[in-house]
Amino acid sequence: MRHDEPSLAPSKSNPVRLRSHHLLCALTFRSRGYGQDFVIRFESFIDRIMQSSPLLLIAEPDELCQSKQNCGGCDSSVSVGRDQLALEALEALLPTMINSKIEYLTDSDLLHLRENFADGSARAACKGCNWFDICSHEAQQNFRRARLQPRSR
Ligand code: SF4
Repeated sequence: MRHDEPSLAPSKSNPVRLRSHHLLCALTFRSRGYGQDFVIRFESFIDRIMQSSPLLLIAEPDELCQSKQNCGGCDSSVSVGRDQLALEALEALLPTMINSKIEYLTDSDLLHLRENFADGSARAACKGCNWFDICSHEAQQNFRRARLQPRSR
């Protein structure tokens, strides 16, 4: 495997390292983004979430940011600030989250996040984002085209 390819083998001791605001982005992601490599990496993130991989939320660039087709601001204070705001929202919403770690995202967690994303209460991190209206539209459409879906759907 090339060093810049996404890792596909998380485990209990090797959780998926996901920058915090990317978990919000994952709610509405529908395989569109900055380029094909970015999309493939994000699809890999989503698939691992749906495979019940443990998640470690971080406030720094993750492997999605390693794509050469990223947003261009992965190291910026704006992105890190988004992570901190997202983490605050996620900590309040996910009772199973301990020290930024989620054992796995349950369907109930996902639906709870969606509800709070759709009503805007979990979206402080989204302020000023270029994708804001697209993500809002997907939420208004009940997330029906999002790749991340409840397992029991
Ligand atoms: S508005 Fe931006 S930060 Fe918020 S979920 Fe969408 S892409 Fe992510």
